[in-house]
Amino acid sequence: MSEYRRPFLGSPQETIAVLKKYDFTFQKKYGQNFLIDPHVLDKIIAAAQVTKDDFVVEIGPGIGTMTQYLAYAAREVCAVEIDKTLIPILGDTLQGYDNVTILNEDILKLNLSKLVEEKNQGRPIKIVANLPYYITTPIIMNLFENHVPIESVTVMVQKEVAARMQAGPGSKDYGALSLAVQFYAEPYIAANVPPNCFIPRPNVGSAVIRLKTYSQPPVKVKDEKLMFQIIRASFNQRRKTLVNGLKNYEGFHFTKEVIEESLEKCGLSPNVRGEALNLSQFAALSDILKAVS
Ligand code: SAM
Repeated sequence: MSEYRRPFLGSPQETIAVLKKYDFTFQKKYGQNFLIDPHVLDKIIAAAQVTKDDFVVEIGPGIGTMTQYLAYAAREVCAVEIDKTLIPILGDTLQGYDNVTILNEDILKLNLSKLVEEKNQGRPIKIVANLPYYITTPIIMNLFENHVPIESVTVMVQKEVAARMQAGPGSKDYGALSLAVQFYAEPYIAANVPPNCFIPRPNVGSAVIRLKTYSQPPVKVKDEKLMFQIIRASFNQRRKTLVNGLKNYEGFHFTKEVIEESLEKCGLSPNVRGEALNLSQFAALSDILKAVS
């Protein structure tokens, strides 16, 4: 059997046959919506720019459809699946794909940095996934905040979430998630995907987004943690001014006067709202507030 076997899953018929063979029941709690469109699968692999040099981690392989595409394109694939009932199915559908390892783990509990160290000598990996939508944000923020060595994250997410990740100041989608993602990576929406490309159909539209990680963050800030607290506080009460947002935030003890003075030092109006500030402005404000705290 060839090491790089061509994918054979991907069509609705093949997927339904596998589901029937194993009498598989979808688990809503795991966000299971399996891809059944080969064109979409090709687009994801192309967007992720997977090559034979790459070690890829797939989050949530399901019955192994995208895993087959990844195995064909990458040097090595490690797929992390929480649902133990899928493990024997994956053993079957990935038979002959010699460059794939399956881990029956919860991605939020797995020490991915350790895995990258052991399996890829600490060199940056690519993450590719059709994510379970119920935990999209914690998965992505965990990867970034834990500084797992990553070259890029290419994922299917809910369309609105992709828009929020890519949004800039002035857009209704702009918020704490936009700033958090854009501190670590450059986002690019590669495709929109309608519900009929999945079984069962999700109630929402989806999009493939690629997050290409920066080797250095695009802004310098003295205290990352404080900056992200300020960002969260600013968007906590979206309709309120930034001064009110920061003044009322639990854990902060800045007075109105201190916040207003800090805003002035940044060249910002005391009535400004958080949604008007870009990442550099939040970094500058954070450095000033750090000096007085
Ligand atoms: N990759 C498959 C596909 O595209 O057809 C399945 C994608 S489905 C949207 C999400 C997958 O993630 C499911 O297989 C689900 O069981 C798995 N999953 C859900 N929560 C998980 C977690 N915390 N850790 C690992 N896998 C998880």
